[in-house]
Amino acid sequence: MNRYNLSKSTKTALFFLSLLPLQWGLMWWFNLHPDDLELYYSPFFEAISTLQLYSLAWLPFSIGDVFYLFLVIWLAVLIYRFIKFKRNRLNRFISFLGFCALFYTLFNVFWGFNYYRRPLNQQLQLSSDYSTEALVEFTCELIEVANASHLSIVENDTSAVNFNFSKSEMQNLVFEAYQEPSNFPNKLNYPTENIKSSLLSLPLSYAGFSGYLNPFTKEAQFNSLMPQYKWPTTMAHEVSHQLGFAKENEANFIAALVCINSKHKYLRYAGLTFALKYSLNDIYKRDPELFKVMLADVNEGIIKNYKTSRQFWEKYRGPSEVIMKQIYGNFLKANNQPKGIETYSYVTALLVNYHNTYQLF
Ligand SMILES: [Zn+2]
Repeated sequence: MNRYNLSKSTKTALFFLSLLPLQWGLMWWFNLHPDDLELYYSPFFEAISTLQLYSLAWLPFSIGDVFYLFLVIWLAVLIYRFIKFKRNRLNRFISFLGFCALFYTLFNVFWGFNYYRRPLNQQLQLSSDYSTEALVEFTCELIEVANASHLSIVENDTSAVNFNFSKSEMQNLVFEAYQEPSNFPNKLNYPTENIKSSLLSLPLSYAGFSGYLNPFTKEAQFNSLMPQYKWPTTMAHEVSHQLGFAKENEANFIAALVCINSKHKYLRYAGLTFALKYSLNDIYKRDPELFKVMLADVNEGIIKNYKTSRQFWEKYRGPSEVIMKQIYGNFLKANNQPKGIETYSYVTALLVNYHNTYQLF
């Protein structure tokens, strides 16, 4: 064979690379026409996700994590071989690019187009903004409800709530919480529980992440090293990704909503205090003095739960967390979330405006 002839693997790679402009065109189109996304992509996504959720739920560990581990090893071997062997480098490089294009295509087909769904506030016909008055009113009410929820579990307002559940118990509770008909104007359809403890919990802690969805297998992983108090909202957040709510802030809103609506008092407590943290943060940004006054009304036990969670992350804080947050922020920016990881006050907008229309608690 002439050495300038294209090998079969190079031809395959070029085919996958040629799919890229098509995907970018679709993204551009869906961004302008989110109704077309709902019409053509969403039913496909729901069908394929349901199939994936059922087919992998029985596995006690995350097959997606095993796949990631193999991928890292394979990449390391590939880089080593590329450096060591000089023969046929161009073909091998094109094959590698083709593999990346295939990976990216699968990512978009299985999951990525969800980033172009119509924003949740528009779907729910809610404003994406709120006045300071509305925020203060909402937060005052939320403090009262969160304090009452706290005292429904512990006897004394200075005690932190001690969560003592097994992983599977908590996973089942979150699954049950998703079955509540009051969760959304249209009930969320989570067909089967498929939440798994991450096999990568330690590196995840150093990277500063509490959980993630594997877009290829649809398994939801949570960092099991985190204090249990954070498990319910993290699991509920990842489940919302499984259902196609791709954006971080929308997933956080759904996590709060589902946990607050739960009949289980520990989940409700986790959801209320999760929502409270967002609204107090926003009060702080707008009026630090008022923040101090309002914080004084929050039960000391709740603050202790916040501290446990903060102390956990401080223990692992380091350069890897900063680097990972930077990478993830750029990933979000590349996926239609222009503010990257710093988009969280939109969560408060959803909470405040949802409460005014549908009564969150
Ligand atoms: Zn997320």
